[in-house]
Amino acid sequence: AKAQGRNSIHYFTEHMRTDFLKRMEIIKDLRIAITQQQFHMVYQPIVNLSNNTITKAEALIRWQHPEKGLISPLDFIPIAEATGLITEISEWIFNEVTQKVKYWRETYCQNLMISINTSPVQYKNKGKQITAWVDSLKEREIDPQAIAIEITENLLMENQAEVVSVLDQIRLKGIAVSIDDFGTGYCSFSYLKNYAIDYLKIDKSFVQNMSADNKDAALCEAIIVMASKLNIDVIAEGIETDQQKEFLTKAGCRYGQGYLLAMPLVKDDFEQLLIKEQKK
Ligand code: C2E
Ligand code: CA
Ligand code: CA
Ligand code: CA
Repeated sequence: AKAQGRNSIHYFTEHMRTDFLKRMEIIKDLRIAITQQQFHMVYQPIVNLSNNTITKAEALIRWQHPEKGLISPLDFIPIAEATGLITEISEWIFNEVTQKVKYWRETYCQNLMISINTSPVQYKNKGKQITAWVDSLKEREIDPQAIAIEITENLLMENQAEVVSVLDQIRLKGIAVSIDDFGTGYCSFSYLKNYAIDYLKIDKSFVQNMSADNKDAALCEAIIVMASKLNIDVIAEGIETDQQKEFLTKAGCRYGQGYLLAMPLVKDDFEQLLIKEQKK
């Protein structure tokens, strides 16, 4: 038993060592990625389930590493957040997305709205970065309705006062706020009462485990009813099957996102889709 114990300690420390080295390498490469423009954005359409039109999309970052290929945001965003590199990356994201959405609105879709994911770190220091973004829209003649900000519900539970003031400023300027991954965090109904929220995104784990008469389906229905009474629009994430789409549509869910409806698209492909939508 003793020998086994020692082995498992050895095993864990080896793991921690390789994890640590991997992490150090990502940090080093991330700094290079920022200066060498290895990032690009993809846009996943958000579909209006009642008429299948598309006037919204979520912007998602991609990292094309010169040797390692495509790296998932799940593997680098948390590291970027922990090291503070997220500030610089987010600055790039905001400029890239707002530039595209301005052009697309002027050219193809007047009421296009692109939502941008934000990290909790960005709400520290009175949300300096985000409030600066908001202010820059006016100078650049971008309608605040062109963008929405996605936040996770965990953020609303931390630093209440600081976060409230940042979100209030965002909404006062006419930018929509979405709660991402709804139902997976420190979920509390009190924030739905205390904050003015525009969209609530049902986490894909509920949508994907849903079948006609189980608890996930009941939770989805309940979230949709509650949101509608609070005047909040619902976006269901991770729709992969016709049954899921049908169930959610019947339950009164207004918007859907997922591989069944549309994949995340590189900007040129998203633009083609906007052209098709225009002809509808
Ligand atoms: P998220 O914000 O919840 O984004 C939705 C994720 O679900 C995306 O993964 C999307 O590609 C994926 N997805 C969409 N439809 C389906 C579906 O039908 N089935 C399944 N299984 N997945 C689907 P992605 O792009 O890998 O992003 C993962 C996470 O990384 C995001 O989760 C978000 O938390 C973070 N992230 C991505 N882009 C950004 C960004 O620009 N900024 C920040 N701060 N975080 C980002
Ligand atoms: Ca999101
Ligand atoms: Ca989500
Ligand atoms: Ca997420």
